[in-house]
Amino acid sequence: MSIRRGLDGLMKLFPCPAWCFQCRRFITEELQSPCQSLCLDCVGILPGIEQTYCLACCKQHPFEHCKTVWSDEIGHLRSLFWYQEPLNNWVTQLKYSRNFNAGRVLSELVRLWSLENESYFLKYDFLLTVPLHWRRFLKRGFNQTQYLLSAQNKLKPNTNLIQKIRHTPHQAGKSSREREINLHQSFAVTKKFKGERILLFDDVCTTGQTLKEISRNLMEAGASKIDALVLCKTRGERL
Ligand SMILES: [Zn+2]
Ligand SMILES: [Zn+2]
Repeated sequence: MSIRRGLDGLMKLFPCPAWCFQCRRFITEELQSPCQSLCLDCVGILPGIEQTYCLACCKQHPFEHCKTVWSDEIGHLRSLFWYQEPLNNWVTQLKYSRNFNAGRVLSELVRLWSLENESYFLKYDFLLTVPLHWRRFLKRGFNQTQYLLSAQNKLKPNTNLIQKIRHTPHQAGKSSREREINLHQSFAVTKKFKGERILLFDDVCTTGQTLKEISRNLMEAGASKIDALVLCKTRGERL
C-alpha cells in the first residue's frame, strides 16, 4: 500500500475536523455542505441571485430578453451572488487584508458554480480576467480575479491578454459617468482575435464600467462575442 493510499484510508477512519469559516461551528456530518469551508446553514444564507433576475433592468426575465441596452459590446452579464454579507466581507478581507482563508471560501464557491454550470463554459474560447495596474498589483501582491478562478478547472483563464496601462484612482464613491471617464483608455489588449468568443471575469461589478471599457477594447481587437461573469454584483446601483 502506498503512503498516499494509507493516509487516505486513515483520513476516512478519522476525518480531519473542519470548522465553518462563517459561524466557526464544527462541521458535523449533518452540517456538511458541498462547500468544504462552510456548514449547511451558512451556505443556505449566501446571497445568491435567481437566474431569472435581469441585472440590466432589475426585472424578472432572462438578461438576453432585456430591451435595456447597457453595453453595445457585452451580450450577457451573469453574477453568482449579490455583493452582500457575508460575501462582501470575505471579498474585502481577501483584497485588502490578504485573508486567504476568506479567499479559499470564495474560490471554492466559484469552483462549485463551475461544476453546476459546466456547459456554460463550453460556449467560450477564452476566459479572461480583469487585470490590475502593476502598481496596484505590487501593493496587493496578487490579482484577486485570477485567485478566485484558481480552484475551477472548466476553462483555463488567460491572464496576460489584457493589461491595465494607466493607474486609476479607486472607483468607490464615483458615479457611473465618473467611472467611465476614470477608466477611459486605461486598458490595452495584447492579442489580435479572429472572431473568438470571450468570457470576461471580475470579482465585483458595480456599474459595469470596467467590463464595458475592456469589452470595447476586445471588440476592437477582433473578438466576436463577449459575455461577463462576476462573483458579486452590488445592489441598488444600475448598470
Ligand atoms: Zn456555518
Ligand atoms: Zn431586463
